[in-house]
Amino acid sequence: MRICIFCGSSMGYDEVYRKAAHQVARFFIDNNIGLVYGGANVGLMKILADEMLAENREVIGIMPMKLIRREVAHNGLTRMIHVDSMAERKEKMVELSDGFITLPGGFGTFDELSEILTFNQLRIMDKPLGILNINGYFDKLLEFFDHAVREGFVRKEHRENLIVSDNIYELFVKMNEYKPLTIGKWIKDIVKESHS
Ligand code: AMP
Repeated sequence: MRICIFCGSSMGYDEVYRKAAHQVARFFIDNNIGLVYGGANVGLMKILADEMLAENREVIGIMPMKLIRREVAHNGLTRMIHVDSMAERKEKMVELSDGFITLPGGFGTFDELSEILTFNQLRIMDKPLGILNINGYFDKLLEFFDHAVREGFVRKEHRENLIVSDNIYELFVKMNEYKPLTIGKWIKDIVKESHS
C-alpha cells in the first residue's frame, strides 16, 4: 500500500509538528506503507522522507522540473518522478497512491487538499482523504468548511467525506472504512436548484 502525504515545505514554529511528522513516518514503517510525496528536501516533507529512507522504505517523490532546478529536490529517494507541471504532479500522485493524508502546511498543502476533495466530489477518483489535525492546526479551516455547508455551497455529504483525526492510528482506521460517494443524487439536486 502507498499513501500520499501533503505537508509543509516549512517545519512550523512549534516542535509538535516535527514530532508528529516523525510519528507518521514511524507508523508507515511499522505498517509497511510506502510514501508518495512532493519530493522536496525541506520542511515536514524532509522529516518524513529521511526517517523512512533510514529504514530502507519506499519513498517516491513527484516534482515539476522547475522546482528541481531550484535545488529543493531530495536526492536520496527510492524514485524521483519528474513532471512538467503542478497539475501533472497531482495526477501522478493520484495514480500511484491508495489514499491521501494532509499534515499541517501552507498554500501548497491547501491546494493539494482541495484538489483531492474536488476529485472525490466529482468521482474523478474515489480514494480516502484524511486530515491529521495536529495541534488543532486545521480547526479554523474545518469550521469554514462547516460554514460553507450551512451557506449552501458545500454539500453535507462532501464535507463528511473528509476524514479527520488528531491521531494517526485512528485516522487510518477511519480511512480503511471509507466508502466512496455516489455521484447521481447531488448532481440532480444542483441542476434542479438552478432551474427552480
Ligand atoms: P506548502 O504547504 O505551501 O509548504 O507546500 C507544500 C506542499 O506543496 C507539498 O505537499 C508539496 O507537494 C508541494 N510543494 C510546495 N513547495 C514545494 C517544494 N519547494 N518542493 C516540493 N514540493 C513542494
